[in-house]
Amino acid sequence: MNDIILLKLGELVLKGLNRRYFEQRLIANIGKRLKNLGRFRIYSVQSTVYVEPLDDGCDMDEVFSALRQVFGVISLSRAAACEKSPEAILETAKSYLSEELSSAKSFKVETRRSDKSFPMTSIALSQYIGGELHEAFPNLTPDMHEPELVVNVEVRDYSAYVHAGGVRGAGGLPVGTSGRAVTLLSGGIDSPVSSYMMAKRGLKLVPLHFFSFPYTSELAKRKVLDLASILQNYCGELKVDIVPFTHIQEEIRAKCPEDYFTLIMRRFMMRISQKVAEMHGCKGIITGENLGQVASQTMEAMAVTEACCSLPVLRPLIGMDKEEIVGIARKIGTFETSVLPYEDCCTVFTPRHPKTKPRLEDVEAAEARLDIEALVEEAISGIETVRLDGD
Ligand code: ATP
Ligand code: MG
Repeated sequence: MNDIILLKLGELVLKGLNRRYFEQRLIANIGKRLKNLGRFRIYSVQSTVYVEPLDDGCDMDEVFSALRQVFGVISLSRAAACEKSPEAILETAKSYLSEELSSAKSFKVETRRSDKSFPMTSIALSQYIGGELHEAFPNLTPDMHEPELVVNVEVRDYSAYVHAGGVRGAGGLPVGTSGRAVTLLSGGIDSPVSSYMMAKRGLKLVPLHFFSFPYTSELAKRKVLDLASILQNYCGELKVDIVPFTHIQEEIRAKCPEDYFTLIMRRFMMRISQKVAEMHGCKGIITGENLGQVASQTMEAMAVTEACCSLPVLRPLIGMDKEEIVGIARKIGTFETSVLPYEDCCTVFTPRHPKTKPRLEDVEAAEARLDIEALVEEAISGIETVRLDGD
């Protein structure tokens, strides 16, 4: 059987002259996503991307599941390709959809014809196929309004395709088409979700994790790498930069007023993120911050935190309820890992009375005793880049 997957492109179809670029990027992303699942011919014609296996042995169920995680695809259908004749289309429908045709009670045939030289109109072809199927499967009643089964026929330039309808794809824009951004990845629930959401809008991610060994353990680091591995299913290959953060935290504890610990620490995170972003050509910094969730996530605290970096700080979770964030974490498969017990550097040295309405000048005064430049340089020169195994 000539089994093939048709992917309908989402918003990128609207992108005018950039469309070709978006399509090429999507095709490259699909190629990378499928590289361990077999050999494929991947090409686009008329706003549809075709994924055709070149080997018999590949597991098309697995391929289909993988493609459901690729951003830029609005819907996917598994289809059979056949010659462009009414008879071949009918035979293909009968054999490829035999299970569906035998079990459904009502059906209709829907034809789309982009090859206008095809000798029959869409309506005539639907009528022909519908009539023949009705005869061959007496269990079926034609129903034009609410059929249980829709037999889709697509007559395109090189081939005809038969399928039983599509399922929803991951949506969004192909990863890489919006540029790159650093994403601050902790081991919590929020930051894997914020990373996923911005990758969905076409950003290629550079994950950064601040690691405070021995205050946070090797296990906490492993957990972050596991989360990044899950994110790779959607975001493409990731390399995680692990930033040594212990010395900075110890310096803050030794030299700054306790009430400002968290804010000063977060300002270091932003300064380092900004530098790493510049090194990797990133144009933004993503965090999992959420208004009012903790003391460091008030408007005043966020203003103080971002005052030391010039790149836009993207906070896709800012207006969401925890329940909604958890819903996405479950859907994308990060929740189970995120709730494993762990320590984060934010929970080490937490002040008893954190400032919820800090003023920038007070925070600047509080951190004045630190050699900020030197600490930032030291952390950056100690970065360990971890390349994750492909799935
Ligand atoms: P999360 O569930 O993502 O840990 P949170 O609600 O616990 O978020 P905070 O700990 O205040 O919030 O951190 C806010 C954001 O700062 C996180 O969402 C993440 O983007 C970033 N962040 C916090 N700790 C780290 C870390 N150790 N390494 C990298 N980024 C971090
Ligand atoms: Mg956290």
